[in-house]
Amino acid sequence: MRYRDPKCECEIEYPGAYRRWCESCRTDGPLPGSLADPEWEQRHTDPAVLRKAAARLDDDYPEQADSLRKEADRLDDALAATEH
Ligand SMILES: [Zn+2]
Repeated sequence: MRYRDPKCECEIEYPGAYRRWCESCRTDGPLPGSLADPEWEQRHTDPAVLRKAAARLDDDYPEQADSLRKEADRLDDALAATEH
């Protein structure tokens, strides 16, 4: 699942795709596994990472936190299914 960090306002500058880090990413770091996370491609399919991100969103963005937990559960189920 591709999801955005709702607090991220980083700007990408061209040429060179230089990233100007926003206040939120500088202080708290990008939301784990979100599109703001430089390693999102590896991390957005990891249920543990998604739950960590959900915990961070609980206060301000409960609906997005819920959908991340649902996605984490779905990934867990998918993993369990392939192991049997
Ligand atoms: Zn940012």
